[in-house]
Amino acid sequence: MTTQTERSLVLVKPDGFARGLSGEVLRRIEAKGYTLAALAVTTPTREQLAEHYAEHEGKPFYEPLVEFMSSGQVTAIVIEGNRCIEGFRALAGATDPTAALPGTIRGDLGRDWGKKVQENIVHGSDSPESAAREIAIWFPNL
Ligand code: GDP
Ligand code: MG
Repeated sequence: MTTQTERSLVLVKPDGFARGLSGEVLRRIEAKGYTLAALAVTTPTREQLAEHYAEHEGKPFYEPLVEFMSSGQVTAIVIEGNRCIEGFRALAGATDPTAALPGTIRGDLGRDWGKKVQENIVHGSDSPESAAREIAIWFPNL
């Protein structure tokens, strides 16, 4: 256990945004006790997404992922709190929304739509290094 306050980058992806789930995601973040440090609605560019998903370049789901993520608006959020990176990943649940446990965002609200990419409502940073890198992409002035 550490006691260092962290920030994490959360995105409500185009599927979640289009379904009006931004408020539900924010509700769960705040109910958990994390605070909001920044909030914006934006339509991601392919350039932003290439940076954001650089680690996945070359994987079979990369192109469909960039296509999907640039297909509409997202809500970008910087959350803050002790161990919020790990904590939000727990709130989000497993990557595959079918396998994600009930009680999680993906488990409660997501499903497999038979598409080339897993539409799974949210993104959350997976490490302090990723969080710093991703926050700079979505909130360069923060
Ligand atoms: P996350 O950290 O749980 O979001 O998962 P990853 O960083 O591994 O992958 C990024 C995103 O790519 C996921 O949230 C999914 O939208 C998509 N994705 C990841 N793995 C797969 C896969 O095996 N198949 C498909 N179709 N999409 C995937
Ligand atoms: Mg990831």
